[in-house]
Amino acid sequence: MRDRGESPASTFATSGSLGALMRAIAGAFATVIGHERERSALRARLAKIASIVPVAIFEVRTTPDGQVTMPYSTPAISDIYGHTPEELAADVSLTASLSHPEDRPRVEAAMRESMQQMTPMHEEWRVRHPTKGEIWVEVSSTPEAQADGSVVWYGYFHDITARKRMEETLRERVVTQKKRERQIRFLAYHDALTRLPNRTLLLSRLRQAIAHTQRSNETLAVMFLDVDRFKTINDTLGHPAGDVLLQQVGRRLTETLRIGDTVARAGGDEFLVLVPGLHSPEEARPVAEHILATLSAPFSVAGQTLRVTGSVGLSVCPRDAVDVESLIKYADTALYLAKEQGRNTFRFFSPDLDAKVRARMHLENDLRTAVDHDQFLLHYQPQIDLATGRISGAEALIRWLHPQRGLLLPRAFIPVAEETGLILPIGEWALRAACLQARAWRDAGQPRLRISVNLSGRQLNGADIAGTVRRILAETDCDPRVLGVEITESAAMEDPREAITVIRALHDLGIEVTIDDFGTGYSSMAYLKRFALDRLKIDGTFVHGIPDDKDDVAIVQATIALARQFRLKVTAEGVETAAQRSFLEAHDCDAVQGFLVSPPLPAQDLRELLEAAIV
Ligand code: C2E
Ligand code: MG
Ligand code: MG
Repeated sequence: MRDRGESPASTFATSGSLGALMRAIAGAFATVIGHERERSALRARLAKIASIVPVAIFEVRTTPDGQVTMPYSTPAISDIYGHTPEELAADVSLTASLSHPEDRPRVEAAMRESMQQMTPMHEEWRVRHPTKGEIWVEVSSTPEAQADGSVVWYGYFHDITARKRMEETLRERVVTQKKRERQIRFLAYHDALTRLPNRTLLLSRLRQAIAHTQRSNETLAVMFLDVDRFKTINDTLGHPAGDVLLQQVGRRLTETLRIGDTVARAGGDEFLVLVPGLHSPEEARPVAEHILATLSAPFSVAGQTLRVTGSVGLSVCPRDAVDVESLIKYADTALYLAKEQGRNTFRFFSPDLDAKVRARMHLENDLRTAVDHDQFLLHYQPQIDLATGRISGAEALIRWLHPQRGLLLPRAFIPVAEETGLILPIGEWALRAACLQARAWRDAGQPRLRISVNLSGRQLNGADIAGTVRRILAETDCDPRVLGVEITESAAMEDPREAITVIRALHDLGIEVTIDDFGTGYSSMAYLKRFALDRLKIDGTFVHGIPDDKDDVAIVQATIALARQFRLKVTAEGVETAAQRSFLEAHDCDAVQGFLVSPPLPAQDLRELLEAAIV
């Protein structure tokens, strides 16, 4: 309380604080006991001040028997409670009913404490203003004990909603900023899709693990895991489904391993796993087995049940290497081998493996160059129609003129081409080259020769091979009757339903469709009947044994009978001896192909052979 007689306005002006003003006004009231004239002048002045200050000043009384009243408040009180000073003077409980229920207990406790201790109270709370809605109010009051045992509080209410909102916005901004910083920090070391550690974090953990392994004489395993045929899943189900699968794989791997192990996403469908604390390299074996077993349980992706397998390559520290780069490179090399050896398996790195894989990688690189630089050529092996004894067709067999290694046969590169998908451009090249050759022979007035081109399994599945053949025939202005395709029995049986459609589409183009290497696959009669075929080609391995080997004789005879039954033509390949040819002739085989007649020849040589008509 201010001293009596001190001007409240001057106090306010000098102190500049709301508390000081409040005390000045309240103090001035206490002095209003003098002359009536002075009293009314002072009252007018006070009313003026009270009407312009942005706070509501009040006086609250509590009697010893617990009665609470608010005999005085300034008009600004209605900005706080929506009630006039008079209404509140009549019923102060209106204020309590408007205070926020969550804040009320705190406020009441503060008031009790203020009364017990006779100390000033300063609180902030929320009021539910009848028209403005929720507002924040700052309350400051000072209790004063009265002679009659009651307590009087002088104080003020101040609307601080704007400040509170500002504080809230700032707080939110700080929280958002911190969250963003955390996210940036997280993403620097984690993969956004799987939320697993990324390569950077893995490398740093690997560095630590190597140091620890060397100190403790333990073994550390580094595993590269690749989801088998992930590309097919991505291509058929779409990238979002592929992403979900990767997330699930990541989760499974994490659940499979121990706390101290690290699973990281190395990129694409590859994961890296660190398994420290092993006693020997062999101890990594069950871990790899466990990982593969965990992956083989079905996944549920986009409402579909997916079964996937994985391949794992392992390197171990210190046996294979004690540096980060080598351990990762060696695990990758071992992965390459695991993939090559049929997938769904794991392989350890070994130094001789390194050389093998390196050669294979070179081959893959060279093959890509070969595709870009047109390093392939076709040789043609004549086929003799046994009824006429004349050359009726030729099989186009691809060769690769390798710049350093010379002429390479298909077995040296076709498997790699199939695995890498390069067989698609290579296969298309072979088709076009064969059609161009057929055209050239036609233009040169040569007798009609049907050229058969081998198709790979990869070309049959989802690659619209019939569309490709149609386009190439049109582009090269080639008559479909001089083109044939050979599809191996095993390629056709990989997905027989798809093969039915593809073979039908090829057949409808007017080209001859042959099942190659017949007898080496496992075709079922039911499918064979439904394939729109023209010819069966008996595999050379059965021809080899005739006429002496009983089994081969039986197989060859049965195949010819089967072909007759299905009204198919039949060619025997790999015919090397006159005895074989005689047997086939005697058993109603339609055509033969093999070294007996001629090995595969360059186009020019085949032409000379045709002209010489030596067969
Ligand atoms: P294929 O289609 O069964 O071709 C017959 C293979 O037997 C050819 O081997 C041929 O040179 C060989 N051959 C021919 N006559 C005899 C014989 O009397 N005795 C023996 N032992 N072998 C004989 P090549 O040229 O090495 O081709 C191997 C395989 O590579 C082919 O088997 C075919 O599956 C594949 N191939 C060849 N060219 C292509 C192509 O353009 N695309 C695709 N996808 N595969 C091709
Ligand atoms: Mg063939
Ligand atoms: Mg064959």
